[in-house]
Amino acid sequence: MRGFSRIAAILTVGLVLCGCGKKSDENQQGGITMVVHGGAGTILKENMTPEREREYRDVIEAALRAGHEILVGGGTSIEAVVAAACVFEDSPLFNAGKGSVFTGQGTNEMDASIMDGSTQNAGAVAFVTTVKNPIKAALEVMSSTKHVMLVGRGAELFAAERGLEIVGPEYFFTQRRWEALLKAKEKDKQQSSGLSKGPDMSKFGTAAAVALDGDGNLAAATSTGGLTNKMHGRVGDSPIIGAGTYAKNSTCAVSSTGQGEYFMRGLLAYEVSALMEHAGMTVEAAAKEVVEQRLGLLGGRGGIIALDGRGNVAMEFNTAGMYRGYVRDDGQLHTFIYRDE
Ligand code: ASP
Repeated sequence: MRGFSRIAAILTVGLVLCGCGKKSDENQQGGITMVVHGGAGTILKENMTPEREREYRDVIEAALRAGHEILVGGGTSIEAVVAAACVFEDSPLFNAGKGSVFTGQGTNEMDASIMDGSTQNAGAVAFVTTVKNPIKAALEVMSSTKHVMLVGRGAELFAAERGLEIVGPEYFFTQRRWEALLKAKEKDKQQSSGLSKGPDMSKFGTAAAVALDGDGNLAAATSTGGLTNKMHGRVGDSPIIGAGTYAKNSTCAVSSTGQGEYFMRGLLAYEVSALMEHAGMTVEAAAKEVVEQRLGLLGGRGGIIALDGRGNVAMEFNTAGMYRGYVRDDGQLHTFIYRDE
């Protein structure tokens, strides 16, 4: 017996040292991978100028590069998704942080969440109005509180206490988003019933990243300003673990974008993981099923990015386009906006 145990121990140490274990093989096969999205919606080539398109692609590439640099330097998937999300949050082009859309009351109310696939620890903030980078506040909730979500004033006070940058409402003002609000209000007025629910359901924003690091750990982060002309106080799917964000090493890391109410009702980020775990689906098949069947049948519109522990990537949407991209160990950046390019 003792001899057998010794042989088993030697074999185990040998496997770990030479990296021949199954987990290492999978990691080697997948390598580090980073996937991002910048929202889905009625994004049509004919409505885009080449200059505008370049600007969008530049930010998507910068987000991918920020995360990739961390991953190749041996950083964690959590660090990578935060870095990528911050690039989107600091850009006025995407609906998160600086570029957040306006509520019907003319305020900017942001939501964000993060999840660590290795521990299934998670953090989120909702209805924050003064935090420059909401994703950093979500990270702080995850790493330095025993809670998963803080909202409103409490979240803002906590962010300030943790030394995060706090800004005034003028920081989030962008002319383009303001005009979008006025347009949405005008559209509302024109609707004969007058009972329109408000939010502009044709263009969605949100910024997100999912990543696989060199240790085989997955993470997901999502940050948003929500929907244009949403009700004051409305919270969407982005800060809800299982709806807008989910990560579990044994299945996948997921982030959603689109009409949050549907993602909340169907717990659609978790659903991708559940289909992999309980129905044995691949990440590509699970993401497709969720967008085409679950989201589609509920009548919702939007998209999902998902990444499994082998580095397989899924980017599914049922809208005209979705800002998205991925990068693997080779550092080659792949970005897409429309259905095929
Ligand atoms: N899903 C986000 C929300 O409903 C919005 C978006 O992705 O554009 O708040």
